[in-house]
Amino acid sequence: MDHKIKIPLFDLDYGAREEEAVLDVLRNKWLTMGERCRELELQFSQMLGVKHALAVSNGTAALFMAAMALEISTDHRVICPSLSFVATSNCIRYCGASPVFADVVSNDDWTISPDEVLRHLTVKTRGIIVMHYGGFACRMDEIMKIAKDHNLFVIEDCAHAPGSFYDKKPLGSFGDISCFSFFSNKNISTGEGGMVCTNNDELASKLQMLRSHAMTSLSFDRHHGHAFSYDVKGLGFNFRFDEMRAALALVQLDKMSDNNRKRNGLALYYKKRLSVLPQLHIPFLQHNYVSNYHIFPVLLPSGTHRSDIMTFMKEQGVQTSVHYPPIHLFSAYREFFGNHIPHLPVTEEIGRRVLTLPMFPGLSFEDIDYIAGILEQYFEQNSCQ
Ligand SMILES: *Cc1c(COP(=O)(O)O)cnc(C)c1O
Repeated sequence: MDHKIKIPLFDLDYGAREEEAVLDVLRNKWLTMGERCRELELQFSQMLGVKHALAVSNGTAALFMAAMALEISTDHRVICPSLSFVATSNCIRYCGASPVFADVVSNDDWTISPDEVLRHLTVKTRGIIVMHYGGFACRMDEIMKIAKDHNLFVIEDCAHAPGSFYDKKPLGSFGDISCFSFFSNKNISTGEGGMVCTNNDELASKLQMLRSHAMTSLSFDRHHGHAFSYDVKGLGFNFRFDEMRAALALVQLDKMSDNNRKRNGLALYYKKRLSVLPQLHIPFLQHNYVSNYHIFPVLLPSGTHRSDIMTFMKEQGVQTSVHYPPIHLFSAYREFFGNHIPHLPVTEEIGRRVLTLPMFPGLSFEDIDYIAGILEQYFEQNSCQ
């Protein structure tokens, strides 16, 4: 039986402004790496307070470029979380290096544990990739101190984090390089897209080379008479961004603060409504900094059959998800580690018990009442838990 979705996990906030922005590009007849890409980069770097922001084709490309710019290679080790999307660690493997997974802090703080990072340091460790889970900042004071003490680079995977802060500073402004994604379900949605940011001029020029075949001039400049030819100065790729998506991103960026505020209001209401269900554990309740509430995950009681509850919710039209099945337990990673599959108790426990509930700016308080009602019903009928 096919159940009609009443409340999706995520829904785009697209309207007349996005339509107009794309039509503008079509009428203007310049499709890639033009004025809108430049404007987006400018606004993004201003938002973060960093010197360089480069628009790229997706968040995975941004991470790969970061890993290459930092010259990760065979024999190097890079510490990262396993409670993340697989791109976080794949970018290390693309360079022939080994990801070393560190556990997250606790059932309350699902970001990488600084103590665990310290525990996994070896002479081969070159850097740390942090991921600001759900838009909640990692423990950046401790992470940056470890990096400084041990001469390690830090990459921030900011796919969840646009508009989030640590203390008063925007996420994406701490590490050597930060990487954002504009995939459909992110806080800024363009379908595919990303941004790679840095304060370091040397890294910025490497990233620039990697983005577009290390060519010394862009076709936009040649078209506008600024250059006639070009040289190729290294081995680069095509990870460029295009004007239609940049136009969408500019509108989405403009809406972001309001939308993140709406998400915060919805999260507050979720917490209030779900407080009658002590079986559910809500993470990050003690988090001190501004979050963009990219997602709204809860921890189910241990022993709950998660697929039962997901099916029960789906039958009543509510879509849910799992953020995340731990990376180190995927077949491809088990194979990679062979007889040395890491054991990450907190990550694995969260991976078994996490349930991601719908969260997007257009969600309503009534929707949350409906979702909470279904959860109450489920736990009444399964009261042994
Ligand atoms: C979405 C996401 C990415 C990858 O971004 P794409 O644009 O889909 O390539 C990387 N890391 C995390 C944590 C993500 O959620």
